[in-house]
Amino acid sequence: MPIQPLLPAAAIAANMAELKPALRRQEALVEASRCLYCFDAPCIMACPAGIDIPAFIKKIAHGNPAAAAKSILSANILGASCARVCPTPVLCEGACVLEDRDEQPIQIGRLQRYATDYIAERDIKVFTPPAQTTGKRIAVIGAGPAGLACSAELAQLGHTVVVFEKQAQPGGLNTYGIAYYKMRPEISLAEAELVRSLGVELRCGITIGKDLTIAQLEKTFDAIFVGVGLGATNRLRIPGEELPEVVDALDFIDQIHTRPLDRVPVGRRVVVIGAGNTAIDAVTQSLRLGAEQATVVYRRSEGDMSAYDFEYQRAKCDGARFLFNVAPVEVCGSAGHVIGLRLVRTNAGADGRPEPIPGTETIEPCDLVLKAVGQEKQVVLLRRLFPALQIDAHGVIARDPLTGQTSVPHIFAGGDCANGGREVVNAVGEGKKAAHGLHAFLTRQTAAPPVQPSRLGAKTGPTGSGLLHPVRVHELEAALKK
Ligand SMILES: Cc1cc2nc3c(=O)[nH]c(=O)nc-3n(C[C@H](O)[C@H](O)[C@H](O)COP(=O)(O)OP(=O)(O)OC[C@H]3O[C@@H](n4cnc5c(N)ncnc54)[C@H](O)[C@@H]3O)c2cc1C
Ligand code: SF4
Repeated sequence: MPIQPLLPAAAIAANMAELKPALRRQEALVEASRCLYCFDAPCIMACPAGIDIPAFIKKIAHGNPAAAAKSILSANILGASCARVCPTPVLCEGACVLEDRDEQPIQIGRLQRYATDYIAERDIKVFTPPAQTTGKRIAVIGAGPAGLACSAELAQLGHTVVVFEKQAQPGGLNTYGIAYYKMRPEISLAEAELVRSLGVELRCGITIGKDLTIAQLEKTFDAIFVGVGLGATNRLRIPGEELPEVVDALDFIDQIHTRPLDRVPVGRRVVVIGAGNTAIDAVTQSLRLGAEQATVVYRRSEGDMSAYDFEYQRAKCDGARFLFNVAPVEVCGSAGHVIGLRLVRTNAGADGRPEPIPGTETIEPCDLVLKAVGQEKQVVLLRRLFPALQIDAHGVIARDPLTGQTSVPHIFAGGDCANGGREVVNAVGEGKKAAHGLHAFLTRQTAAPPVQPSRLGAKTGPTGSGLLHPVRVHELEAALKK
């Protein structure tokens, strides 16, 4: 597709500006002061990384954002990116008790960003690598959120960690896949540097299975953590799919991260196939790059969409069109280029699957088709790398959800390759759990468990500050006895 910016560079830059800009100091103080510092706070329970949210908010309210950042990063080393990319309306902010009082929930994500930006901008170090090492060596495959979170935790437990990453840069989808208006890749790269500063070695540009074999890793490492994520987007399997303007939505988004914004090829009329969060990111970014029309087509109904409702509403506000109950049957081309997408109307068959309605075909004119129909599971890669590893019926690595241990005792796994594809914060939570599982396996002892949200609230008091409200002491004692 020829690169012809559809808008002036300044207009594209403005369109792609961050949706949630940083809070100023006074705004952060006011927002933090609204928090009720709830006992057994539901916002903590809703955070897969177990951040003690009221504790860090109180530190901001007391004018100590560096201490707040330490609190955040101790629970979630990717706290800066999660502050920007977490679907907070369905996690911590969705659980905030203020909603029940018909008030706006606390802007937890933006406060988290305020604290983590504070130390990043001033180059304040909140961690020191442990003085003693255990002598155990762990190889981590994949420098995405799962691999980085696992490595950071292992390093702090005193292990030697080497991460192997096939891409030139670390961060996984956090660096290459997140919508540009949510987070810049530099944030993800800075987090990888933070992990490196804990003593973790990051070796980028090395593909395990090509440049190094598992047998080679097993010779020099005591255990392996697998955090390889998911694969490329599934194929459409329709005629015309090979035309040059039929593009994987992940590749389209990758270009937004690796080229100047006005050099990203985008069509005037874009059709996005699929209705998950990736489809929403693709359609929204197409419009913000200057597409005159961008349409999502989905073979099921509006109510069946897997995208979060708040993301769907945002795409509609940006002018995205949505066509429901239509399935693509052919990409139409002329002179080797895409000119449209043939669609057929569908209705739900007896088993609920969409079935085409004969005689209802139409052509949606377009010059770019973005495929966002889900990422492939890494079954082929995993079977090749680890023939003995148990893969479950969903095509992901079977593992103990509490420890990340797989059917091969010295191999642990977490993140998208094990959960089938969730959010960054889930990958972080699973990477952490696996680090503690690995620690217990390698030292034959039980490590201090990763943060248990409800217990953490109980042990450290309502704010994590050690200051217990007197009337709650007996409540706390009762909770600890349970
Ligand atoms: C388009 C898109 C947008 C998203 N937006 C959001 C969002 O806004 N908010 C959110 O919370 N989540 C979002 N997600 C989900 C989130 O990005 C993932 O859940 C998260 O990145 C999973 O982390 P991971 O470490 O398991 O996998 P990945 O991030 O995929 O990282 C896996 C890493 O392993 C490397 N690797 C793979 N094979 C090998 C090998 N053989 N050798 C060496 N290295 C290898 C890969 O190169 C990659 O760097 C989005 C996902 C997509 C696809
Ligand atoms: S739920 Fe969490 S963020 Fe909301 S008021 Fe309570 S402690 Fe504060």
